[in-house]
Amino acid sequence: MELTPINKLLDLTSKVAIITGGARGIGFGIAFRFAEAGAKVTIADIDKEKADGATQQLKAKGWQAAAVACDVSKADEVGNMVAETVKTFGSVDILVNNAGIFPNILVMNMREEDFDKVIDVNLKSVFLCTQKVARQMIKQGNGGKIINITSIDALHPSSAGLAHYDASKHGVWGFTKNAALELAPHKIWVNAIAPGGIATPGVEKVQKSLELPQGVDMQKLIESFMAKIPMKRMGEVDDIGKVALFLASDMASYITGAQIVVDGGVLLS
Ligand code: NDP
Repeated sequence: MELTPINKLLDLTSKVAIITGGARGIGFGIAFRFAEAGAKVTIADIDKEKADGATQQLKAKGWQAAAVACDVSKADEVGNMVAETVKTFGSVDILVNNAGIFPNILVMNMREEDFDKVIDVNLKSVFLCTQKVARQMIKQGNGGKIINITSIDALHPSSAGLAHYDASKHGVWGFTKNAALELAPHKIWVNAIAPGGIATPGVEKVQKSLELPQGVDMQKLIESFMAKIPMKRMGEVDDIGKVALFLASDMASYITGAQIVVDGGVLLS
């Protein structure tokens, strides 16, 4: 049997990828590895200026990238994101549903709009982007890869104050499996990555905004969190970028409807 050489398996040349929330954090880590593997990358983010900056970093390496402003919870902006990508690069072959928010609010203090916002940005967006991109992929007729960034909170709660977030991420995991079933006949493989604690600007922002009860020290809280991680370190964005590259590539030729946990072993503790 003739086996495809390893460098060809990881080669994304000729592929076009959209990464939502790709201007920073995990999304940028994924965009970096995809661009390095040869993909043409659309960085879609709510903040156009940040998306432009991220795109410049990839272009400075000689890679191909474009920025699109998109609030993933708005259907018309998602439609524009797909249309702009097709106009710029000619197709869409890979979608990473990464954009997400994780404000910490106890259920007892949560307003209806707090709940709706998290569900819209984290869950409804996955439906909107998947539908628009899958229609494009079906039209192209060459299949495709859809990767949803869930969380270990799709499986087990990590802390109080994230009930809306956990509901959204459980929802994305359910959506992933059902969309995988529906889209398999079109050779569109749909999978999820469930990160544990990854050091990103978003996590830093949440840590700074947390209202701690009197006498509770943030440093001590971080130390007790780290103590629960068997690998004894926070994840880095590239820990997720590498797994996303695996799922987007021909390395993952027989995987759909799966969720890969990338958490340094934290769910074991
Ligand atoms: P960051 O906040 O660092 O980056 C997310 C990016 O998405 C930001 O550029 C943000 O813009 C953008 N964004 C926010 N809302 C929207 C929107 N409505 N439309 C388009 N873009 C938007 O987050 P992370 O990199 O930490 O997280 C990325 C994903 O990974 C999320 O889905 C998160 O739930 C998931 N995850 C993260 C973990 C972690 O420990 N970091 C753990 C488990 C899962 P802006 O900065 O302007 O808000």
